[in-house]
Amino acid sequence: MAAAIIDGRAVAARVRENLKEEVAAFHAKTGIQPGLATVLVGEDPASEVYVASKRRSSVAAGMADLHQHLPADTSQADVERLLRELAADPAVSGILLQLPVPAHLDPAPLIELIPFEKDVDGLTTQSVGLLAQKKPGLRPCTPSGVIELLDAYDVPFEGANVVVIGRSELVGRPVAQLLVNRNATVTIAHSRTRDLAAVCRTADVIVAAVGVKGLVTADFVKPGATVIDVGIHRGPEGLSGDVDFAGVSEVAGLITPVPGGVGPMTIAMLLSNTLRAAELQYQLAQQ
Ligand code: NAP
Repeated sequence: MAAAIIDGRAVAARVRENLKEEVAAFHAKTGIQPGLATVLVGEDPASEVYVASKRRSSVAAGMADLHQHLPADTSQADVERLLRELAADPAVSGILLQLPVPAHLDPAPLIELIPFEKDVDGLTTQSVGLLAQKKPGLRPCTPSGVIELLDAYDVPFEGANVVVIGRSELVGRPVAQLLVNRNATVTIAHSRTRDLAAVCRTADVIVAAVGVKGLVTADFVKPGATVIDVGIHRGPEGLSGDVDFAGVSEVAGLITPVPGGVGPMTIAMLLSNTLRAAELQYQLAQQ
């Protein structure tokens, strides 16, 4: 029997509609309009498309677009100066440094200049620590989007076996921690894992964040399991994921497509983080 499809576009649209109302209510209550400062250095075409989409979506949610574009040859010191200014600016709720930055820049110290309460990507050491300690903070967008999709489809992952394939700082590790914090029994698999297919067959839920096109095939999947595909691959035939969708959907119970699964959730969760950031700063200012 073919798996039911998780409709990421519909869930993301719902999240964005709800956010619009929450942003309006927060603005009315506090007089603060949440503002997102996207920072783009250089002219990388893919980054320009991503940033334009984030800016459009934030405006559609009722937020201020505080975009900053720096030329490709901007020095490390000048990017640092801008990030410090944004960190100190009360109109800026969230700061997003679009990655990758040009090769002459070192992204790690730049990211660390973003204060935890404005870190809408959830990538600073402090945000990672807050997640690890289950303390309030901003969580990375794509991993949060995975949890939101599982919740939207009432996938009972508490106590269940979840295999996350991938241990990157951007996706694998944070999604595993979010799942553990929600009481899943999590296995993190990676390129050194022995017999990945056998490990995956123990899973009630598989989250594939590998970056290898079509790696997860039907023989990885326990009948009826939920399969979440984070991977994105661009080919002549369009977008595809880390999961062999045609084969796996014959075995799985629920599955995300690519495109239209996890992808649309990332920007929705960025907007959600920007509002949470504004709320967090408001709370901190009241203390
Ligand atoms: P990454 O940094 O390259 O990490 C890939 C992980 O997969 C690593 O931990 C690696 O293991 C593991 N891996 C690689 N080959 C493997 C194999 N054959 N078997 C088992 N594990 C293997 O990638 P990422 O940033 O996490 O991204 C993963 C995918 O998600 C990519 O396709 C990316 O484009 C996509 N992505 C999508 C979104 C979205 O919005 N939907 C957002 C971010 C990323 P080692 O640690 O041992 O090397």
